[in-house]
Amino acid sequence: MQDISYRLDNHLYLNLTNRCTNACVFCVRYKAREFQGKYRLWLESEPTFEEIMKAINDPCQYTEIVFCGYGEPLIRLETVKQVAAAIKKAGPTRVRVDTNGHANLFYDRNILPELKGLVDFVSVSLNAQNSEVYDSICNSFFGRAAYAAVIDFIKEAKKYIPLVEATVVGLPQMINIDEAKKIADELGVPFRVRPYYEDEYVG
Ligand code: SF4
Repeated sequence: MQDISYRLDNHLYLNLTNRCTNACVFCVRYKAREFQGKYRLWLESEPTFEEIMKAINDPCQYTEIVFCGYGEPLIRLETVKQVAAAIKKAGPTRVRVDTNGHANLFYDRNILPELKGLVDFVSVSLNAQNSEVYDSICNSFFGRAAYAAVIDFIKEAKKYIPLVEATVVGLPQMINIDEAKKIADELGVPFRVRPYYEDEYVG
């Protein structure tokens, strides 16, 4: 059994993949088999478009539908685009993507124009104030190239997506949160500190 979606208040979260191009030290995928003790987010198989739409049912019952994890949703870019288009066709529900910002590295092209008109809000995990700290806590498959790619992803996202934010996890012992906020300020995007939970997904 697996959960490809879960509801929190009026928001529906979609779990498309467990794959990720980071291995963050704070990622709950390595700690908890279940989210909030009840959602089985480790997938036996990645859901199809049809399975995702069935899980959503009527998109208009939610104020927001979020592509997130256990994993990096843009690894399934074509499915994200297909589902987002169906949500947009159904009505005004906001579409958000929570991402590590590696997609342009992963695909070796700028994928952000492809999300224009489909995604309203991109929340990018900046995660650190510089590439050294990022590398030490995110263990990216892309090594030292990852942090610069995240910065570039945020800059590109601003051109195509109405709302873009940068976030870090609330771990001041690992991350200089004030310095990270300065980076977000320089990029001209809102900054948010994500709560750190010992046993919850924080990607
Ligand atoms: S926290 Fe997010 S970006 Fe980091 S390894 Fe987990 S899913 Fe990937």
